[in-house]
Amino acid sequence: MNYDALIIGAGPAGTSAATILAEYGHRVLIIEREKFPRYHIGESLIPFTFHALERLGMLPKMRTSNFVKKYSVTFVQNDGRRSQPFYFHTRYDKDTIAQTWQVVRSEFDLMMLDNAREKGAQIIEETTVTGLIHENGRVAGVRVKDANGVASEYRAPITLDCTGKEALTSNLNGWRMKDPYLNKIAVWTYYKGSKREPGMDEGATTVAFVPNKGWFWHIPQHDDMVSVGVVAEGKYLTRDGVKDPEAIFNREIQENEWIRDHLSAGTATGGYHVTSEYSRHSRHCASPGLLLVGDALCFLDPVFSSGVLLALKTGVMAGEEVHKGLLAGDLSPERFTDYGATIRLSIENMRKLVYAFYHPDFSFKDVVMKYPECGGEITDCLSGDVNKDFSNLWARISEFVPLPDDLPYGTPLLAA
Ligand SMILES: Cc1cc2nc3c(=O)[nH]c(=O)nc-3n(C[C@H](O)[C@H](O)[C@H](O)COP(=O)(O)OP(=O)(O)OC[C@H]3O[C@@H](n4cnc5c(N)ncnc54)[C@H](O)[C@@H]3O)c2cc1C
Repeated sequence: MNYDALIIGAGPAGTSAATILAEYGHRVLIIEREKFPRYHIGESLIPFTFHALERLGMLPKMRTSNFVKKYSVTFVQNDGRRSQPFYFHTRYDKDTIAQTWQVVRSEFDLMMLDNAREKGAQIIEETTVTGLIHENGRVAGVRVKDANGVASEYRAPITLDCTGKEALTSNLNGWRMKDPYLNKIAVWTYYKGSKREPGMDEGATTVAFVPNKGWFWHIPQHDDMVSVGVVAEGKYLTRDGVKDPEAIFNREIQENEWIRDHLSAGTATGGYHVTSEYSRHSRHCASPGLLLVGDALCFLDPVFSSGVLLALKTGVMAGEEVHKGLLAGDLSPERFTDYGATIRLSIENMRKLVYAFYHPDFSFKDVVMKYPECGGEITDCLSGDVNKDFSNLWARISEFVPLPDDLPYGTPLLAA
């Protein structure tokens, strides 16, 4: 069969792009290494996922799901003092954008995959893309291996790399760039029965500090489960030679009064996950016959839960742009210039807030006390409303801590 587009990876980026393209009637094939449902980290959504979920026809499914409703983010000091929550409804409509969800990714990603299938996308699972086929200076398709080790090939005028942290084509093309500063480690697990805040704050994400700008996430999920993880510099987490993930995790619990108190009511369900070296940028967003989407294009840091938002947003945008290119009979990389620039603006805005957050001298409270109007803009950024002019906010924050310059990444690589 001939395809109009090949999509590598069935995470939120891949299924978003596939849904849009299939809905327009294009022949789309998603090639996924795992068998769904499969485990994945990245469970807290932020409000601006709303537009993508709406465009994909996912809102009715989200609203009837078991996913916990999330209205805010709260920060907690080491001694257990909670900040006033950043409520999204102070800036956005309470019944739509301002209410988002804490998802279980195996369930959410399967819903997204089923949605793409309903719209007409074809899916093959347990099949790994092992390389790209290059013809006449462009990517013409992919080589794959199925679960039995049988190799084959698929071809299409465009291939979308949605491989997440594998960043398949970024690695193959030598485009994978480290972030100049971000380089943390995360250790996480799940608790059943951890304490929750009352009322509207029940589903809030809590970011609870430990020393050296490390922090815990506490993400309430359905079935009385909580995802809880600690993120910090490797040197800090492994101090005194502690290397075992469970030992690292349990030691850090003692560093934050709120986390200690909340987890004391629950039971660790076992299984400790670790990941490192996840912050990266791709030098280019596209080349002839190839487009990068979601984490395969860039991933910053877990702290403000922007990963799934950027996966959904790039997925929808990629689907729309590829659709236009297929209609025009022109999928040249130039077509993806605006795509690359739009996403880089999102990333650079989020990146400034992430850098500020990790600076030893930074606190949201200091900024908001001196410049109360910044509270709203910080909430906007935390909501994922990241394609707007934040020059006032960055000017104010720069009085407290230095902010990074934009990185020169994300443009398409034009044909030679
Ligand atoms: C510690 C940590 C915590 C996080 N917390 C959050 C959070 O709270 N909220 C949030 O929004 N984000 C969070 N994220 C980020 C989030 O996990 C990602 O941004 C998101 O999953 C990206 O979606 P994606 O579709 O681009 O990639 P993925 O969801 O990773 O999907 C990629 C898919 O590609 C498949 N694949 C890979 N290679 C191949 C291949 N060669 N052939 C075939 N298939 C392949 C994989 O099996 C996978 O299914 C977190 C990340 C980390 C590291």
